[in-house]
Amino acid sequence: IIHLPRDAMWLLQTLHDAGYSAYVVGGCVRDSLLGRRPGDWDICTSARPDQLRALFADQQLILTGEKHGTVGVVLHGSPYEITTYRLDGTYRDHRHPDKVQFVSELAEDLARRDFTINAMAYAPGEGVIDLCGGRKDLAAGIIRCVGDPEARFAEDALRILRALRFAARLDFALDPATEAAAREARDSLQAVSAERIYTELDGLLMAQYAGKTLAQYGEILAGAVPEVGPCIGCTQPGRWHCFDVWQHTAAAVTALDLRGQDTRGARVLRWATFLHDIAKPLCRSVGPDGAAHFKGHNQRGAAVARAILRRLKAPSYLLEGAVGLIAIHDAPLPEGDAAILKCLNRYGAVSLRRLCALKYADLDAHALTPEVACRREDVTIFENRMTELSKNGCFTIRQLAVNGSDLMEAGLPAGPAVGRVLHALLSAVMEGRIENQRDTLLREAQRLLREC
Ligand code: ATP
Ligand code: MG
Repeated sequence: IIHLPRDAMWLLQTLHDAGYSAYVVGGCVRDSLLGRRPGDWDICTSARPDQLRALFADQQLILTGEKHGTVGVVLHGSPYEITTYRLDGTYRDHRHPDKVQFVSELAEDLARRDFTINAMAYAPGEGVIDLCGGRKDLAAGIIRCVGDPEARFAEDALRILRALRFAARLDFALDPATEAAAREARDSLQAVSAERIYTELDGLLMAQYAGKTLAQYGEILAGAVPEVGPCIGCTQPGRWHCFDVWQHTAAAVTALDLRGQDTRGARVLRWATFLHDIAKPLCRSVGPDGAAHFKGHNQRGAAVARAILRRLKAPSYLLEGAVGLIAIHDAPLPEGDAAILKCLNRYGAVSLRRLCALKYADLDAHALTPEVACRREDVTIFENRMTELSKNGCFTIRQLAVNGSDLMEAGLPAGPAVGRVLHALLSAVMEGRIENQRDTLLREAQRLLREC
């Protein structure tokens, strides 16, 4: 039984009372049947947009989707999308609504949806309308195109990526025919707009089973991000790795621990982990000992990641955050308070916490050797000390016990010298050469000035 929110119920009731047929449809039915809480409740109906506008004239409406047959109705602050059954772009006249016609229209509406698990409708009293075998596939954990997969992917290549996104969200597998068609048609993803690709890929990466999906369907994903292709099967002989670059990447995404991260942090980390070794195939060489080396792959990887995220029109916080992490993910961690404080000054505590999370994930996807365990311990030591210093240490000009006006009051001439002295004081404090105390700092400032 599906429990509709009061507002969705009211919308269906209002539509029925006005003589239209109406159902909740798609993701909300799928999620309800899985016992998950639906993100949104979409409604499909026989009412045309102009009829919807008239019927819900007293409500706040969102009309941006009207030409695609969608009217948004805002109830108690939440938007509900109501979409007219789509019939090859034309709407029928419903002055004489007829039950048989409604049934065939709903059937057509469901048949044009992407996957069987997304092609179910529900109305109280009628129950779940499942004309494509969605319930069976939900129970079996299968993503299957409605109709002929080749034709459906040819109609809209984005569905290839959506299939992976739902697999990653639900821990489902692609039906063999759907998988084969997706693999075959993957390159047609190149023609899909960057915005649509970004949205689905982001949904995939943010999903619970992203790592597993990457591991399983990397070749299909390479249709959306061709740079992934060479990572698949790129071996890493040597004592560090037990996986090729791509399986290592997927394992790192699975290993990522996002506790304590906000949404932005989680997104930056998922993308950074996904792309952290993207340039390894470009930098690979094999030494005389038979071990693979990837000289310069961090910097190169940062450049490739930047190009990918630009191409996908990713938001700038994500681009800068992920690229910054990739560039330094392999660099040795600073030891000693002075070096850690300088690191805090340069990157900030938020970025360094993310760096630690990426390093743990990366290391946990390596071979389980004592060396790797040792490196993991180094991250913990760094993280603990960095956290402590981020709370109690002085690593920004603002945290100094004096500011520019204090220095000028003490006789420093206004001008660029003030800034230079403040920076020199901060360095001295971070290096532990002087205490962060007002009198000490003023005395040191005088001395610095005399020296210049
Ligand atoms: P989510 O919980 O991620 O929003 P959803 O199933 O609601 O999942 P949406 O992208 O919001 O996914 O799409 C809503 C519904 O519209 C889908 O369930 C599906 O029936 C249909 N749909 C969306 N995109 C497509 C598409 N490209 N091709 C065919 N049907 C689609
Ligand atoms: Mg949705």
